[in-house]
Amino acid sequence: MTVRTRADLSALPSYVPGKTIPGAIKLASNEVSAGPLPSVVRAIADAATAVNRYPDTAATDLVARLGDKLGVPAGQVAVGCGSVTLCQQLVQATCTEADEVVFPWRSFEAYPIIAQVVGTGQTRVPLTAGHGLDLDAMADAITPKTRLVFVCNPNNPTGTALRRDEIERFIERVPAETLVVLDEAYKEFVDDPDVPDGVEVAKAHWAAGRDNVAVLRTFSKAYGLAGLRVGYAVGSPELAETLRKVYVPFSVNALAQVAALASLDAEDELMTRCRAIVAERGRVRDELLAAGYDVPVTQANFVWLPLGERTAEFNEHCLEHKVVVRAFADDGARITIGEPEENDTFLAAAKSFAR
Ligand SMILES: *Cc1c(COP(=O)(O)O)cnc(C)c1O
Repeated sequence: MTVRTRADLSALPSYVPGKTIPGAIKLASNEVSAGPLPSVVRAIADAATAVNRYPDTAATDLVARLGDKLGVPAGQVAVGCGSVTLCQQLVQATCTEADEVVFPWRSFEAYPIIAQVVGTGQTRVPLTAGHGLDLDAMADAITPKTRLVFVCNPNNPTGTALRRDEIERFIERVPAETLVVLDEAYKEFVDDPDVPDGVEVAKAHWAAGRDNVAVLRTFSKAYGLAGLRVGYAVGSPELAETLRKVYVPFSVNALAQVAALASLDAEDELMTRCRAIVAERGRVRDELLAAGYDVPVTQANFVWLPLGERTAEFNEHCLEHKVVVRAFADDGARITIGEPEENDTFLAAAKSFAR
């Protein structure tokens, strides 16, 4: 006998994680290269003695702390097992098979997979020629079936960021019953005053009586906790409540909760680290431009090289030089900004690539 699984999943590609190759430098997953802070490691080690107990499924302390930090009631914050799981919860909370989600493409690889796993429709809206989100085209793509629109800002993998006025104009065009999700996984690396804090945008929108904006953040990138899996969403009280309903109980584990709290305690130190990455990002981009590469302005902890059909060859070349980048066939390569020596190794590889 053969178990029958959903036929619509057979054609679904699996999520492709960044490769880890022994002896090679990994600049493929937008992780922070520096290890966790000693204070965070201590908090994790202390909490390890209590892992015979279930975690607090409501993550009460973390949610309260995030509410304070963001200036919103704790009831408007929902945690998830990484913000990728929150992306899935948001789609589950809003869409059935009769509905659809709209998202930019190319963007975060999980969006199309999640839509298909949840079993809802999807519309991918191509980026502009400048590798940024085409908000006019995204607004045009919304139909009465559209329940959710992902706006990845800065965009993964191109690094481009939207300005406040662009986002506000877009939100004005979105029907009140369609949820706009500002996915801000790289927010802490933004170094441009015109790029808004999505939570502030959402608050102003809520104050005007419209509840259809939510924001996603994660501890995986700037806070350096990718291995522990914790992220959060900020939305209207009703949306946050619905996210809690589709939450798999206990999925944000106890170590993740204490590590997130310890990271918030060490926020100044972590943000100093982010500023160093931002400085390195500028250096890496300048050197790539000088070497003749097209490199869109980036506000994230990575650069995007739109290499088109030469992407696979570039990827092989980097691997030969012991650097693992993230290649998207026939489109481009995304390279995470690491420690200065790692970036130097990558730059040497990029400069020796014959173009
Ligand atoms: C990395 C990333 C996430 C998810 O990160 P988690 O580790 O699941 O918290 C979400 N959105 C974007 C755009 C990302 O790049």
